[in-house]
Amino acid sequence: MAGYAARNKPSEGKLQELYVKVLALEDATGRKLVLLTSDLIGLPRELSEGIAAEVCRQNGLARDQLMLTVSHTHCGPVVRKSLTDAYDMPPGEAQKVDRYTEQLRGWMVETVRGALSDLKPARLAIGKGSARFAANRRQPTQQSIIIGHNPKGPVDHDVPVLRIETPEGKLRAVIFGYACHNTTLDFYLWCGDYAGFAQAYLEEQHAGALAMFWTGCGADANPAPRRSVELCRKHGRELADAVEGVLRRSMDKLEGPFAARYAEVELPFDALPGREKLAADLLDKNNAVRRRAARLLKIIDAGGKLDDHYRYYPVQVWQFDNRLIWIGLGGEVVVDYDLRLKKELGGGPTLWVTGYANDVMAYIPSLRVLKEGGYEADSSMIYYGMPTKWGPAIEEKIIAKVHELVDDLKKKPSP
Ligand SMILES: [Zn+2]
Repeated sequence: MAGYAARNKPSEGKLQELYVKVLALEDATGRKLVLLTSDLIGLPRELSEGIAAEVCRQNGLARDQLMLTVSHTHCGPVVRKSLTDAYDMPPGEAQKVDRYTEQLRGWMVETVRGALSDLKPARLAIGKGSARFAANRRQPTQQSIIIGHNPKGPVDHDVPVLRIETPEGKLRAVIFGYACHNTTLDFYLWCGDYAGFAQAYLEEQHAGALAMFWTGCGADANPAPRRSVELCRKHGRELADAVEGVLRRSMDKLEGPFAARYAEVELPFDALPGREKLAADLLDKNNAVRRRAARLLKIIDAGGKLDDHYRYYPVQVWQFDNRLIWIGLGGEVVVDYDLRLKKELGGGPTLWVTGYANDVMAYIPSLRVLKEGGYEADSSMIYYGMPTKWGPAIEEKIIAKVHELVDDLKKKPSP
């Protein structure tokens, strides 16, 4: 199971089914957008780009028309090349992960094809609700910032909602997001966590309709309180109720034309560790530190060089007429990005920021979080197998690329 390095055995059963779901949209000019949501902790680049290449080839789409997202449940399966150095896995388990990852790739490609072959006339509308259970988790102490509870820290309690109904007004799908770690539970059963329960409640309430969840910039938020199935259901219910509330009110009509952009940014690391530091890390008491050091030393010993950048950070922007700008950012993005982009780009059109989109390679701290330190800035990089923490240019590089893509869409809204 994915997400907690402390787990030491495989899953023991299931509390909920896990899903891959796909929304396919087409505007009056034939321009399509495809959103995939999944009960996974993260899609690593190797997997998401493999899926994207196949989906684009089969369906005649460009990369910018496809957004691949996850719920970041910590009660889902490990997939290959995700959180590379986090898990202590016996060899037999690694082979299961490989087999599962291949199956998953097929299911995802298949599900996109199914959605694209099921397009029917629809009316779209958007709205916004609110749920209160996301709490900033970066708790300052005398020595450092720990994962706890920080009532003064920033959070975003918005619940963005997209409603899709038939021309007769029957709900066909509801898509919603929330900026909070999907980590109420840490046990050994498969489960979609609060996002899984919220989707299940909405689908119970609206027979025949699909409920789909995406994660916002919730890297530095946890559900509070947490760690029981009862609390997980309660948070799921609160989120589903927030969505229901929006569906009952009058919502803003959403129309085409649709437009999309996709780009990859090179993000710099801080100063890379040398051989001496890595050799010392081989003796660290943390298994993940030792695994990372061994892997990196092997590269250096073979005459290779550690890359001082991550070269593929994905930034995606979707535009729906002048009503909605929907941004997809890779990695576990802290809330500062979402609050900053809403300030800089909101006001006119509605602005949504999906995190964990297209590639989850690491945490994405803001400059503030990077300077403050703590798990999201620093130690999380170990579990993702990154050589060191990010360089201070990270926030401006990402924000500048978002602005560039949004400006480009304004200038030339058609593909
Ligand atoms: Zn996380």
